[in-house]
Amino acid sequence: MPQKGAAVVTVFEVTATDGAARAGVLRTAHGDVPTPAFMPVGTKASVKSLHPDEVRAAGAAILLGNTYHLHFRPGEDLIAELGGLHAFMGWEGPILTDSGGFQVFSLRDTLLAVDDGGVTFRSVYDGDRARFTPELAAAVQAKLGSDVAMCLDVCPPAGVTRAELERAVGLTTTWAARQREAPRAPGQLVFGITQGGSDRELRSRSVEEITALGFDGYALGGLSVGEPRPEMVDAVGWAAPLLPADRPRYFMGIGDPDGILDVIARGIDMFDCVLPTRMGRTGTALTSHGRLNLRNARFARDARPLDERCSCPACTRFSRAYIRHLVNQQELLALRLLSLHNLRFLLDVTLGARSAIEDGRLADFTLEMRQRMASEA
Ligand SMILES: [Zn+2]
Repeated sequence: MPQKGAAVVTVFEVTATDGAARAGVLRTAHGDVPTPAFMPVGTKASVKSLHPDEVRAAGAAILLGNTYHLHFRPGEDLIAELGGLHAFMGWEGPILTDSGGFQVFSLRDTLLAVDDGGVTFRSVYDGDRARFTPELAAAVQAKLGSDVAMCLDVCPPAGVTRAELERAVGLTTTWAARQREAPRAPGQLVFGITQGGSDRELRSRSVEEITALGFDGYALGGLSVGEPRPEMVDAVGWAAPLLPADRPRYFMGIGDPDGILDVIARGIDMFDCVLPTRMGRTGTALTSHGRLNLRNARFARDARPLDERCSCPACTRFSRAYIRHLVNQQELLALRLLSLHNLRFLLDVTLGARSAIEDGRLADFTLEMRQRMASEA
């Protein structure tokens, strides 16, 4: 599919494959992103509790910012006035911004109306009526100056009627066609989003329509929205190969270790999740031996690090007993240390998978990871 502006630089290059899995490089205006890539979420222009240098040191190459939240607070005009999102949040690397669609559609009680032109809802900040259109999604992301902008899509939760799913597919295409023609920031890539849940016919139709428009990359949206995990994994398995092989494939909203391994094996290149910091807030560590709930009394005198295989700033210096103490006393350092560790762990899993793809041993790597995660530390 010809790209607007006849790209002289290849946006995405696959450098190795192993079965359906791919290792590659996404080229953006703020640098290259080795893939598969886990994207930490900086919802409100911050990866909760972490300094950008710490996020970088953990191994992150690209961050995700939320258009919905940044549009309402502090507003894209203010961010643009202060030099754009990179300068504003002190992150010089690549940034992908979502379109705000996922937030609008997942906050179901705030939805007012969906029509051909856009979606009307009440802002979670002040309850005021607000409206997102494809043109606005493009304009906000252009002002934020992200490296990758996402199309505004209609993202229904799992379990809706087929008619509702079909309407979501149709509107998502109409909106994508409009957003594709809207102005973008210099060098900004735009990714199209496919919908259709795990309905083969609707998903295939969506893929056909969105790829016919021609975008720099493509996302599988509307999965991981409440359907059973095996159904989701199965859908990724047949839907990912429908997307063009020479474009990055982004699975929206997965980031637990098992899920990462599942989607990488099926040909996904990028994914995002709030899991590392959210788990941190509940006192949970993701480790090579599975999840540890630090509130558990068995860690009270445990002198070992969270994960003996990890070299993050938490694991090289502090014991499980100490971090458990911080969790119980609701010390801010607990959140920081757990977030630093969880982020590092997920980035290491992703990096490990990338090397395994390059060596043609992803299946063995995945099996070893899973066996270790199921065994007691
Ligand atoms: Zn660690």
